[in-house]
Amino acid sequence: EPTKMESVANPEKPHALCIPYPSQGHINPMLKLAKLLHHNGFHITFLHTDHTHQCLLESLGPNSLNGLPSFHFRTIPDGLPSTSTSTRNTPSLCRSMSETCLPHLRNLISELNHSSSSNVPPVTCIISDGVMSFSLDAAQELGIPHVLFWTTGACAFMAYLHFRHLIDKGLVPFKDWIPGLNGIRLRDIPSFIRTTDPENFMLNFLISETQRAKEASAIVLNTFEALENEVFAALASLPLPRVYSIGSLQLLLNQAADDRLKSIQSNLWKEESGCLEWLDSKEPNSVIYVNFGSMIVTTGDKLVEIAWGLANSNKNFLWVIRPNLVSGTAAVLPPEFVTTTKERGFLASWCPQEQVLSHPSIGGFLTHSGWNSTLESICGGVPMICWPRSSEQQMNCRYCCLEWGIGMEMNSDVKRDEVERLVRVLMEGKKGNEMKKKAMEWRKIAEEAASPKGSSFQNLDNVVNHVLLSSR
Ligand code: UDP
Repeated sequence: EPTKMESVANPEKPHALCIPYPSQGHINPMLKLAKLLHHNGFHITFLHTDHTHQCLLESLGPNSLNGLPSFHFRTIPDGLPSTSTSTRNTPSLCRSMSETCLPHLRNLISELNHSSSSNVPPVTCIISDGVMSFSLDAAQELGIPHVLFWTTGACAFMAYLHFRHLIDKGLVPFKDWIPGLNGIRLRDIPSFIRTTDPENFMLNFLISETQRAKEASAIVLNTFEALENEVFAALASLPLPRVYSIGSLQLLLNQAADDRLKSIQSNLWKEESGCLEWLDSKEPNSVIYVNFGSMIVTTGDKLVEIAWGLANSNKNFLWVIRPNLVSGTAAVLPPEFVTTTKERGFLASWCPQEQVLSHPSIGGFLTHSGWNSTLESICGGVPMICWPRSSEQQMNCRYCCLEWGIGMEMNSDVKRDEVERLVRVLMEGKKGNEMKKKAMEWRKIAEEAASPKGSSFQNLDNVVNHVLLSSR
């Protein structure tokens, strides 16, 4: 209901022109702000684009934007061709609005300011979305205040503020910066880069180690060409000795079929027997294998979340908890967890991972994405849930998820619901099925690479004959 005050002309009434960016996540908070201002005695003009206005009319009905006596909706074109779809392409929209909206805005303001309606006071301030800064021009021309509303958190705003800085520092854009790496973000770069100290030991250590790589006769990597084609192409153009992919070393070794070699082991922890027999008793693809490698430490709380996630997923699991996985104390699992999952869970402290990953009962791997674990999983044809912690694990995870289509990333701050959900998606969902297929394809490609005509086999042969034996 209009108040008495509002129904009469009030030239003193402040008038805020609110200009949201035309998408849901921006309109909602701006509308809230506008309502608050209205509550504080402002006259409001809330600006939609013709397109969002149309969408709102369709979704809310013809009277929904009539507003109140001193809360009016107006529209201007966004400069894009009209279409019936409700979402517009963000870059096109940003470009179009920043290039075409200002004259429309000027016209609108002038119309409002010369309104014959005594109920519309002149515009006294503009509040616009942070990415609608063209409206600053209009405010400056009128000499009225202009407030920018960034509808982000402060952290994201801070990050946006530093885009220029990151470019000036050469940190982005990434594609030009690290040739051969697609879709890689700063957070995916090995974690040693995350320092503000130019003297940081690991940072400088890795710089000097990679510098010295030039001096080698050759460089070898435990991977196979097809898996990382583009990276190998980019590596070839660097001032480095030739880089040979000779993985999977285990697949090459399998062909050597020398039993004497098999007896030579390198486990730093004692393998717990029994898990392979236990796996034998389970259906194919029915077990999720959980192991975070030899290095990372985590907290008891996170372990408990993982435990309940596994329990709630209702799937069989083989969970290896290294004796020093939890820093400071022994890992303690809730007794109820242990009793409720007795039938379908197997807990161990260390296992023969490669055999586990090539066991037919294993359907998925919840891993910390260490490179060995990743490659072993690929060679076993096992899709992954990736929980990267540090060093290059984030990078491996990114490639698993983005490039190879065989992984899903789990939030660093792990919660039981997400564990349960991801395990279910991996073990019973359509997406899991596709990832399993993809993983089996990669396994085949890995096997081809290691076969006598394959690239890894040949590369190893070349390294041996042309590099290692070259001076003979
Ligand atoms: N591994 C194992 N049994 C276990 C856990 C790990 O044999 O219970 C082996 C695994 O097969 C891999 C290595 O330990 O070869 C771990 O290397 P990765 O690069 O995956 O991770 P890191 O331990 O370096 O973090």
